Amino acid sequence: MALKALDIYKLLPKKNCKECGDPTCLTFAMKLAGGKADVDLCPYLEDEAKSILGATTRPPIRLVKIGVGERSFAVGEEFVLYRHDKTFYHPPGILFKVSDTLTPEEICAATIRVRDEIFTRIGSDLRFNGIAIANASGSPEVFARAVATVEENADLPLVLMTEKTEALNAALVQVGSYQPLIHAATTENFREMCAVAKKHNCPMVIKAHGIDNLAALAKDCQSEGVKKLVMDICPQSLGDYIATATAIRQLAITRAVPDLGYPVFLDAGCLCFQDAAIALGIVKYASVIITPPLNQASSKAALTLRQNIYTDPQKPIQMNPGLYRVGTPGKDAPVLVTVNFSLTFFTLQGYLESSRVPCFMLIIDTEGLSVLTAVAAGKFNETLVRDSVKKFDAENEVSHKILIIPGYAAPLSGRIEEATGWKVMVGPRDAAEIGEYLHEVWSKSTTVL
Ligand code: SF4
Repeated sequence: MALKALDIYKLLPKKNCKECGDPTCLTFAMKLAGGKADVDLCPYLEDEAKSILGATTRPPIRLVKIGVGERSFAVGEEFVLYRHDKTFYHPPGILFKVSDTLTPEEICAATIRVRDEIFTRIGSDLRFNGIAIANASGSPEVFARAVATVEENADLPLVLMTEKTEALNAALVQVGSYQPLIHAATTENFREMCAVAKKHNCPMVIKAHGIDNLAALAKDCQSEGVKKLVMDICPQSLGDYIATATAIRQLAITRAVPDLGYPVFLDAGCLCFQDAAIALGIVKYASVIITPPLNQASSKAALTLRQNIYTDPQKPIQMNPGLYRVGTPGKDAPVLVTVNFSLTFFTLQGYLESSRVPCFMLIIDTEGLSVLTAVAAGKFNETLVRDSVKKFDAENEVSHKILIIPGYAAPLSGRIEEATGWKVMVGPRDAAEIGEYLHEVWSKSTTVL
């Protein structure tokens, strides 16, 4: 059972020495209770307290970091079964899988795609995470050459896919210091694989059919001293994947079977309906997903879905408040006030761009709420508009004093006029109608400016 902050505090040394990075033991206790700190950060804990706290306060699913450097990523450390219970924290890494039997040009092309391809959506840059190289040739030399080809072209997180330690050692000569994810230890080879993983400090995938076998293998690998584990559940079908991954997540987060508390690995290319497998993996508990290189449509679908699922449902994506230009607005350009909910911003910006009317967007800080919600909650109000007009110097950007507010904010128009001294025009409720509005209503109003 999870301990409360005060119960945890009773077990701490109460030195308030700050060595854990927190100002007091009580703050540290509160972080432990929320699963936001590790007991190992306190150097003064007695062994008994450490084992009690370790078992109850560690995140139920371990955090595993893959790769080093700018593109490295961490997976695991999740706390809930359903996203709406809280949030999902660490988006799954999606890696393109290449075989070492491909030509160097083909391997190079996939690597460069992952290195360079970026989709920008709602203000975020979306990218794939790395390359998985499979030792399909069975030859250590060919495998090492393929890994070298990837490494020469990009500094990306890697998955090395071979169950032969000879091939693995040959590849790790090239990339051991990059801490690639090793795939995979099985009941047959886990001792040798653990020795290699420990030598290079690499995270390692364990692979077995069935939950009991996976838990037993995880325990064996832990006894060998390898704790950075990821679990390949070897699903036979999409149904098998969803049933097994859900059971593992449930048993892990309830701490019923702590040995299952590791991130899950999914080779989507091994299942029928590859795109569906990727989508299922993103939505239901996969932390590392490998797939053959995807076409543009599938790439966008996968990255968009991952962005949506791993957005905190309690914190809408927000834009920074400010005065944004659309096109090259002049002194007579319209000034449109709206909220900093990113979806509103980008939707409106898209329609404004297609209207071809250069303008300013005055984005006010409604804490990421949409127009309707912000108006209802009082977060879209005359004071905020007045302060934003001043703060972002709208007066010096245009030669008029007219603000266009969203249709849903119409009841505030009088109060905004009074507070700002600017005339207020009420725009449409639907952003899709803004182009027509600017061409018909705004252009007529400017004739009297
Ligand atoms: S390091 Fe330990 S004793 Fe020091 S403040 Fe943190 S919890 Fe307290």
